[in-house]
Amino acid sequence: MKYQNVNFNNYFANYPDANGYFGKYGGSYIPQDLQKAIDEVNIAYQTIGQSSAFNEELQRIRKEFQGRPTPITHLKRLSSQFDDINLFVKREDLNHTGAHKINHCMGEALLARSMGKTKLIAETGAGQHGVALATAAAYFGLKCDIYMGAVDVKKQAPNVARMKILGANVIEVNEGSASLKEAVDAAFKAYSQEYDNAIYCIGSVVGPHPFPMMVRDFQKIVGIEAREQFLTMNNCLPDAVIACVGGGSNAIGIFSGFLNDDVELFGIEPLGKGKQLGQHAASLAYGQEGIMHGFNSLMLKDQDGNPAPVYSIASGLDYPSSGPEHAFLHDIGRVKYDVINDYETIDAFFELSRKEGIIPAIESSHAVAYAIKLAKIQKKGNFLINLSGRGDKDIDHIIATYGIR
Ligand SMILES: *Cc1c(COP(=O)(O)O)cnc(C)c1O
Repeated sequence: MKYQNVNFNNYFANYPDANGYFGKYGGSYIPQDLQKAIDEVNIAYQTIGQSSAFNEELQRIRKEFQGRPTPITHLKRLSSQFDDINLFVKREDLNHTGAHKINHCMGEALLARSMGKTKLIAETGAGQHGVALATAAAYFGLKCDIYMGAVDVKKQAPNVARMKILGANVIEVNEGSASLKEAVDAAFKAYSQEYDNAIYCIGSVVGPHPFPMMVRDFQKIVGIEAREQFLTMNNCLPDAVIACVGGGSNAIGIFSGFLNDDVELFGIEPLGKGKQLGQHAASLAYGQEGIMHGFNSLMLKDQDGNPAPVYSIASGLDYPSSGPEHAFLHDIGRVKYDVINDYETIDAFFELSRKEGIIPAIESSHAVAYAIKLAKIQKKGNFLINLSGRGDKDIDHIIATYGIR
């Protein structure tokens, strides 16, 4: 299959290119001292990371520790309200720790151990990436330093407790607005000083090359399993695959299985409270080309061209940019990016819970909401939703803010 001269037959061999570019997006825009550290990761990933020993161990971990393969569930009751629609979910919520993030955290931690590193460094916003990485560190017996804004530490007490129980060191960052951006800066700084013994583990398909490629590769398992399972179950491929997009790791994971097929792909961003800057986090739908956190992509900018403040009910989607590969797939038109607001998300959260007995993460609820919307418009078809995580982490906030519906 071809889109604007991009051949999807051998797509993964050509994208990104050797310098980490997907078209004009991606690359590595970081200080020289950090570049040295990241070059080392890149070389290790291209050698050790491609070895059969590495990949066999990762496969074993996925099966015996993570609980893969995760199933596909047919949403019978939710589908039955439509005449000719069948909705399915890929159950990433059934991963150990309750979301897809463990897919790349185990890969990154295995690479660290293979490189002889003794410590993992990362930042976290809501704490989901921190918990998944602390889990991986405990599994491999590695030290783990998680940088977290002081404001987030207060807001996310249960995840801070989880990280500490798992043996991670949670380092409060008090600079600036004391949230995610400052935590990223602090983690980068620590990494540039400690890279002899440590590796930096990013939380999505963002950051400088090779992270968007590496994290995508670790998430590909979702799409590989989903394609095979869907074929076995239905004797056909889905008509559409739908996933929520924050940085874009769960979306690229499932999309990668279907890029070369005649399957419509939808990436769903949070419209939050509305279209005005500051009310949403839809960087692909509304952003402009720009560099932040070491990579070029589409980004929401303020008047000065800096990353704009963003909002989403889902803290995992609350980021002013998205992975460079998504910006590329957006521009060539292979993936359609659309938005869902907070209210549509909450409705979908309750609908999936009530009709199917699955409480979805508020991030994943964006994809569920879009599938229901698409079903009403298209009236016919098989839609596969990536259920990136479970909703236990969200119930207190939802009940306090919206009550029981
Ligand atoms: C972090 C998170 C996301 C958003 O991250 P992506 O990199 O866009 O996948 C989505 N769903 C869940 C459950 C998350 O924890």
